[in-house]
Amino acid sequence: MNIQNYINGQFENPISKEWIDNYNPANGDVYGQTPNSSKKDVEKAYQSAKAAFKQWSLTTLEERSKILIKISELLEANLDRFAEAESKDNGKPISLAKAIDIPRAASNFRFFGNAITQFASESHESVGKNAINYTLRQPIGVVGCISPWNLPLYLFTWKIAPAIAAGNCVVAKPSEVTPMTAYLLGEICNEAGLPEGVLNIVHGLGTTTGQSIIQHPGIKAISFTGGTATGAHIAKVAAPMFKKLSLELGGKNPNIIFADCDYDDMLKTTVLSSFANQGQICLCGSRILVEASIYEKFKEDFVEKVKQLKVGHPSKDTTNIGALVSKSHLEKVLNYIDIGKNEGGKILCGGNKVIVKNYENGYYLEPTIIEIKTNECRVNQEEIFGPVVTIMPFETENDVLEMANKVKYGLSTTLWTNDLKRTMRMSTQLQAGIVWVNTWMLRDLRTPFGGIKASGVGREGGFEALRFFTEAKNVCIKY
Ligand code: NDP
Repeated sequence: MNIQNYINGQFENPISKEWIDNYNPANGDVYGQTPNSSKKDVEKAYQSAKAAFKQWSLTTLEERSKILIKISELLEANLDRFAEAESKDNGKPISLAKAIDIPRAASNFRFFGNAITQFASESHESVGKNAINYTLRQPIGVVGCISPWNLPLYLFTWKIAPAIAAGNCVVAKPSEVTPMTAYLLGEICNEAGLPEGVLNIVHGLGTTTGQSIIQHPGIKAISFTGGTATGAHIAKVAAPMFKKLSLELGGKNPNIIFADCDYDDMLKTTVLSSFANQGQICLCGSRILVEASIYEKFKEDFVEKVKQLKVGHPSKDTTNIGALVSKSHLEKVLNYIDIGKNEGGKILCGGNKVIVKNYENGYYLEPTIIEIKTNECRVNQEEIFGPVVTIMPFETENDVLEMANKVKYGLSTTLWTNDLKRTMRMSTQLQAGIVWVNTWMLRDLRTPFGGIKASGVGREGGFEALRFFTEAKNVCIKY
């Protein structure tokens, strides 16, 4: 199936007529083509967004809200179709796409459809000066949204929904590795009555299509989720043009387990936080740090549970771990397993490719646990972004704090303990944008979402996203 760009409400081929193969990770087959859009396509998308902006920015909040909620309803009504497409494109179990990815994409539209009707701005009475100041929060204009392949529609819509809710028009690019659900979204937007040009989706490679978006002088803000190196490149290109930037980047998140935790709950959740979506979630707890007194028990129980996970074709209900997203990503993850072995890590389970019957060319890998000796080793410091976790014991709270923070990333942390004072102490000292205590991935869309250090700049979620996608203007009236 061939994918087309969605510009000004129309589906069209790329002007250059250049295409990229689209692979099915479950069997390695090419099953369609995606445009490799050039600067000209991005320009066309930009012009369409620019032309739509005036009218869209003046559309009432009720009308915008109604359209966003309609998109959400249509996504829900098309759950099976979208989940099948996501699973085929990405390799994730269809059960996961049905339970998480597509419902969350629908929630993103519903949430921001409602949030925009509640978004208030401040006023400040300048007492004694006979003046009042109030803040206008106005849409920016044309904004760029660029998203990765791991949670394709989920993250794509997490940007688009607040951008259009706030009155902007968008030029968006999904990852070229997983373009399918973004393509299908165009149809839904038309059906929901989103005016032409408000959302424009251009497909293609990061280095061509993505690059054209970030360097376009008329695109005034970039919301990007992806790797840290790409984020640094975008910041460099965008800075001289003074674009607003939101960068959600990589992670290497600690999962800190104290002996006083609710053990069974921790064990069950740790299997998920390690391997959900084949470990390809920026929030996965890929560094497991366990208090020494329960280390041996945890190790035994964890390995036993992980060995029970079923690697298989994404369409099967029995599958826990589907295929990795691409051949090159599989090779990257396998290379990290070799690095782990070479630096003295012990493979407690997994470590090998899996050949799934009838799908021998698919990109399958066993969930892998590496027991490491030092916090500094590469597999414990660099983002692998696959079904690979490291484990290591710790002695004291101070030791684990130091280990947890001694990494260039700072996205999320999970802390397992029933000690309230320790929770309070550690939450303030952990260097991360999110601290989960006795849970993982419990999301409330109103909360600020993002990382510190090499995990990014800026926050998404709730009113933070609406603030990002608007410019604050102070109006001062003397009376
Ligand atoms: P990449 O950084 O490779 O790509 C992300 C997006 O940027 C893709 O659409 C990509 O296009 C595009 N891109 C690449 N180069 C450029 C460029 N020069 N200009 C503009 N756009 C460009 O990341 P991945 O897709 O590999 O995603 C995995 C990464 O995403 C991991 O590091 C992960 O941690 C991070 N991530 C962060 C999250 C967070 O919230 N902090 C959430 C989820 C993932 P193309 O695919 O065509 O190359």
